[in-house]
Amino acid sequence: MRHPLIGLYPGTFDPITKGHLDIIYRATKVVDRLVIAVAGNPGKGPLFTADERVEMVRDDVADLPNPNGAEIEVCAFDCLLMDFAAQVKARVIIRGLRAVSDFEYEFQMALMNRSLDSRMETVFLTPKEEYSYLSSRLVKEVFFLGGDLAGLVPARVLASLAAKKP
Ligand code: ADP
Repeated sequence: MRHPLIGLYPGTFDPITKGHLDIIYRATKVVDRLVIAVAGNPGKGPLFTADERVEMVRDDVADLPNPNGAEIEVCAFDCLLMDFAAQVKARVIIRGLRAVSDFEYEFQMALMNRSLDSRMETVFLTPKEEYSYLSSRLVKEVFFLGGDLAGLVPARVLASLAAKKP
């Protein structure tokens, strides 16, 4: 019997959007176990703390359909991604690919990760068209300028954003 395939989906998730959730749903159809890894304190200076982001991801993932019954775990990490992948025994990295703008960065990351661990594969999944322009950065900009984000982020995330309003 082959070993269960463990996938690692890393990101900042500041905050989680329906685009991320769509990728998570698709990933559960491909791997046996999915570890969603929330980057603790990336250079970008996140709006939400790592604990807040992990909690938001956990809450929303609990509501997702999971037709294959994949195991899902959400945790924060602060080390080199390939070291974290080794810790959780992940064999594939899952990333979402939106428009061409994601391509160059994602391509570099995938090659860098493979040069750090030659056994690692990166699998790119594409979201539903309606989420293909959606990013956490844009969500924060639109929210703080008073725009309507209904349908683009989970309701709980809207409430968490409101709590951060100056
Ligand atoms: P990062 O800080 O690594 O860019 P993000 O949390 O913004 O982290 O994104 C994590 C992953 O999810 C990346 O692969 C990103 O391309 C992907 N992603 C983010 N938003 C979407 C979306 N709307 N559709 C598809 N993939 C997405």
